[in-house]
Amino acid sequence: MVWNIQFQIAALALTLVIGGMCLGQKRLNFASETAFIRLMIATLASIILDILSIVAINFRESLPSFIVQAACEAYLLSIVSVACFSSWFAVAEVSYKIRPFWRNITIIPLIVELAVLCIFKTDIYVNVDDSIIYTEGTTVLVTYVFTAIHIFTTLLMVIVEKKSIRQRRRMAVYSWLITWAVAGIIQFFANELLLVSFIMAVALVVMYCRLENPEYHLDYIDNVFNKKGFHMLMEENIRFHRHTPLVSIAISNLNTINEIFGNRTVTKVVSEVCTFLRDISGVTVFRLEDNLFSITYEPGKDIDGLVDRLRKIFSQPWEVDETQIQITAGLSYLTDICIFDNVDELEEIVHYFATESNKQLDTPLLIDSEALARRDRVLKTQYALEWALENDSVFVYYQPIYNVKEGKFSAMEALVRIKDEEGEIIMPGEFIEFAEKNGMILKLGDIVFRKVCEFIRNSKIEDYGIEYIEVNLSVVQCMQEDLAKDFKNIMAEYQIAPHSINLEITETAAINTKLTLEKNMDDLIAYGTSFSLDDYGTGYSNLTYMLGMPLKLIKIDRSITIAYDSSEKARVATEYTVDMVHKLGMHIVVEGIETEEQYLNFKRLGVEYIQGYYFSKPLPKERVLNYIQEWM
Ligand code: C2E
Ligand code: MG
Ligand code: MG
Repeated sequence: MVWNIQFQIAALALTLVIGGMCLGQKRLNFASETAFIRLMIATLASIILDILSIVAINFRESLPSFIVQAACEAYLLSIVSVACFSSWFAVAEVSYKIRPFWRNITIIPLIVELAVLCIFKTDIYVNVDDSIIYTEGTTVLVTYVFTAIHIFTTLLMVIVEKKSIRQRRRMAVYSWLITWAVAGIIQFFANELLLVSFIMAVALVVMYCRLENPEYHLDYIDNVFNKKGFHMLMEENIRFHRHTPLVSIAISNLNTINEIFGNRTVTKVVSEVCTFLRDISGVTVFRLEDNLFSITYEPGKDIDGLVDRLRKIFSQPWEVDETQIQITAGLSYLTDICIFDNVDELEEIVHYFATESNKQLDTPLLIDSEALARRDRVLKTQYALEWALENDSVFVYYQPIYNVKEGKFSAMEALVRIKDEEGEIIMPGEFIEFAEKNGMILKLGDIVFRKVCEFIRNSKIEDYGIEYIEVNLSVVQCMQEDLAKDFKNIMAEYQIAPHSINLEITETAAINTKLTLEKNMDDLIAYGTSFSLDDYGTGYSNLTYMLGMPLKLIKIDRSITIAYDSSEKARVATEYTVDMVHKLGMHIVVEGIETEEQYLNFKRLGVEYIQGYYFSKPLPKERVLNYIQEWM
């Protein structure tokens, strides 16, 4: 008896360990994972057949010869099958259109091998003295040839499909091909070594460790899939045209929950959300960021129903650790991820609309062509702003402000516009928020302030009866410690009187940047510049802030002007506000006056200044002074 099966036993053990690890884990079932499992089963079968053939050879005297023959041939066929499944695994990521072509090519050697095995006989060589067993003859030779053909076609496939196979996979496949080739050569010259099974198992381990460990795609703590898993699966779904619906859930109040209840509760909240999502049938859950989850639904399932269910769930408090916690979550969804050409674009869109969905918590945001066009406009505007800042394409328009008592225009508000590359004007409503978010507002604010100072210096506004120009300040500008210093320097540089500037701040700035803002205000007021509170009536209109701040003017927002016409309550509130502001020693500008009736109403209330289309829209600097002159 010759039992040189140590390598086979080791190979069997290795393959079983890998098999156990792989099948015992939560998986995403990528095409490559499925191909890997097939390869693993083929390898396992081949190793078992290898062992069985050795057993059969050892008992060849007591067994019918066709059984020994069949065992050896089945083993030889299994080697070519493993090579074939290896080729399939190598091209598992290749486009669904081209994959069948490669598969057909690789299956041909397998069929030919089968035919050869049926026709020719496998010789069995046994040298009992030297403890050597091996098979030889035409069939063995053919097996070598077809395995070599497989190695070659796989190499060819990987080279041809280079672009659609990730580098990591390509490298793993190359190293696997080299291992097989070396093993084949050794085996060819030293038949008795019986290395094949062992090398197959080692190759499998290499692939598993480098590519196919499903743990790479798992978020350990919450047992959902991670960003990487999302990327890989979505890439594959897009490539294979799997029309998958996707819903994203962006939780926006994890920080608040952390501040109130602590980090442990945040972990629990996230875990509860994951458990809930995982339990929905037909979904796969991914955690893309700490607070962003995406779930895919099986193609063709009722996505609207799922979204509605999620909306209801997230509109109610969750019970976590016997405490009722409100999770603030924005929902955005796509009916088919295949509207995107690649996964990077999909990921960008998912993140973009996750942020957008937090701005409209009540209504889930459908990512359709309209929403995408909206995003394109936003991106275009963002680009236009960057371009405008670089290419001196920032313009300041001026809206005259009418002084009721004096019956003339005595001030103007500076309002920024930009022109894009095509010369189209873009309004501040479209870019200020973005500029505030990315800090560009500081550069923009600086440009606007300089342009206003230049205008005051060059056009001698006092000759037109204009006492000052109101300039809007963003919250971000108000946060700057050096704001007062910078503005004083600019005013000095343009040699303009400080009282010809009035800076408009908003309540948000007053609340968020109180200390820095107060310092800046004191500094600038001491210099001679005045301040006004813009958009009164849109926020909380908190009295404490108004009382505590050295403001010259309160600007009543257009929304109040509109409400005044239609609601008795608004009329009463406005009348009290006007009275209160006057008693506090400040003056009032009413914004958004469009009709004579509105003008007369507010004139009757005793407000000092009126601003609105009734008199004039904001005008470019070349036209505004002509307009004022016509009134003089
Ligand atoms: P705001 O400071 O409240 O400016 C008044 C806005 O109302 C201006 O819009 C003006 O054109 C518009 N408006 C004035 N009268 C009427 C009217 O009778 N009817 C209507 N429908 N609208 C009227 P604009 O120029 O689009 O500016 C929008 C906002 O953008 C401004 O609101 C201000 O918050 C911001 N903004 C404008 N320029 C600047 C700037 O240079 N810096 C900063 N930080 N923000 C600016
Ligand atoms: Mg303003
Ligand atoms: Mg305003």
